[in-house]
Amino acid sequence: MKKLILLATCLGMMTAVSFAQSSDKTETRTKKSKSTTYVCPKCHATSNKAGNCMKCNVAMVKDGTYYCTGCGATSDKPMKCAKCNMDMVKITAK
Ligand SMILES: [Zn+2]
Ligand SMILES: [Zn+2]
Repeated sequence: MKKLILLATCLGMMTAVSFAQSSDKTETRTKKSKSTTYVCPKCHATSNKAGNCMKCNVAMVKDGTYYCTGCGATSDKPMKCAKCNMDMVKITAK
């Protein structure tokens, strides 16, 4: 009898853990898709999809991307452009 109870407790715990994991995954997925904003590096128009700005016809970058105004290179960290030796500017939605 004791063994059966132990087994049931074990199974119950495993189910609870797998439930918690699956709900965690869905939560991160929805958070990610919601927070991604694309910003035009020239006129700062925003979009929730990657693509070109309707106005400037330049590729939009993710919100918070560092952008070289000289050649259009992008980086996720603040740095100087390897090509133009210019400080890259952070592109954020305004
Ligand atoms: Zn634009
Ligand atoms: Zn550059």
